[in-house]
Amino acid sequence: MRYKIAVISGDGIGPEVMAEALRVLDRVGEQFGHEFDYTTALAGGAAIDACGNSLPQETIDLCKRSDAVLLGAIGGWKWDNLPGEQRPERALLGLRKELALFANLRPAILFEELADACPLRPELTAGGLDVLIVRELTGGIYFGERGYKDTPLGRAAYDVEQYAEEEVRRIAHVAFSMAGKRSGRVTSVDKANVLESSRLWREIVTEVAAGYPEVALNHMYVDNTAMQLVCAPQQFDVILTGNMFGDILSDEASMITGSIGVLPSASLSTGNFGLYEPVHGSAPDIAGQNKANPMAMILSAAMMLRYTFGLAKEADAVETAVKRVLQKGCRTPDLCRGESTERKIGTAEAGQLIAGEI
Ligand code: NAD
Repeated sequence: MRYKIAVISGDGIGPEVMAEALRVLDRVGEQFGHEFDYTTALAGGAAIDACGNSLPQETIDLCKRSDAVLLGAIGGWKWDNLPGEQRPERALLGLRKELALFANLRPAILFEELADACPLRPELTAGGLDVLIVRELTGGIYFGERGYKDTPLGRAAYDVEQYAEEEVRRIAHVAFSMAGKRSGRVTSVDKANVLESSRLWREIVTEVAAGYPEVALNHMYVDNTAMQLVCAPQQFDVILTGNMFGDILSDEASMITGSIGVLPSASLSTGNFGLYEPVHGSAPDIAGQNKANPMAMILSAAMMLRYTFGLAKEADAVETAVKRVLQKGCRTPDLCRGESTERKIGTAEAGQLIAGEI
């Protein structure tokens, strides 16, 4: 099969980790008989430097013509003093909106080999941890009406949290169908004891659940979820939630794994189209030094194989290859704990070793 992929390497360590993801994909292509056509495009700081705009129209057009998008990372010190609207990171919001990426999937997986990196007591994560956060990405308070008004207490600012039934329904379907392929449990997170928008959220999620009798649903308030994630994280399989709660909980969950360099993400639209990127940013402090861990980018490419191209065997092969390299004690600097069994490797060697395991 032949697949068209838009490649946005971006800034900082983006190009370094992207090069290794493409190396691994090329290996998958050779081993499994697929052809991946890459077309590069600019976004973020690199695009500002080249044409004065963080998200050029041609990048949007290329993404829309492609089967999937791979994105490295965006941003850096060089552009930190630009006003909000002109900052490189605006390109991320623009891509989400233009490509209608309404479902954000962030797995928080604690690799057995990296159990030491987990900040929780070992007994809380004994036997591993595998939580998938499904976050609604294009609605809610981040996209609601906002503004200022005068009040007797001075100026007031407001941001409106609003969810329409269809927005809740489509993200709920994503969560339930994912859970059906995993351990079959969805925890829907809201604040229905206070918020009207959460009460509607809960009603619609319950309706959708009726169509998935094999999946167990429970509802949990967001404040309780924040506590449960650090005291009993193994109770969760899929966490389904809105934009703002998901933003906060997904960072909390990913930190339980302790290693930002190994966390992938997917943002999906309808029809299996998706944008795949590591959870980490552009890490300007280590850019260009062969220190960046490419595993998050490589595992994001594995998610692309699984969710957009439907290539589960190939995705498994990439994930297993990453685990094997970790089992052999190979560690990029972010994962080094000073153990005698560790072998310190750089970005390029990590990519070569992983590709070699496929
Ligand atoms: P960051 O994720 O870039 O870095 C945080 C820390 O983690 C740094 O010490 C960095 O060296 C380390 N780190 C990150 N990725 C790593 C990797 N793959 N291997 C080894 N170490 C890694 O977050 P930050 O410092 O807050 O932000 C830096 C820039 O990235 C900012 O301009 C920010 O806006 C941008 N950013 C972009 C995205 C994105 O493109 N999706 C996401 C977050 C931040």
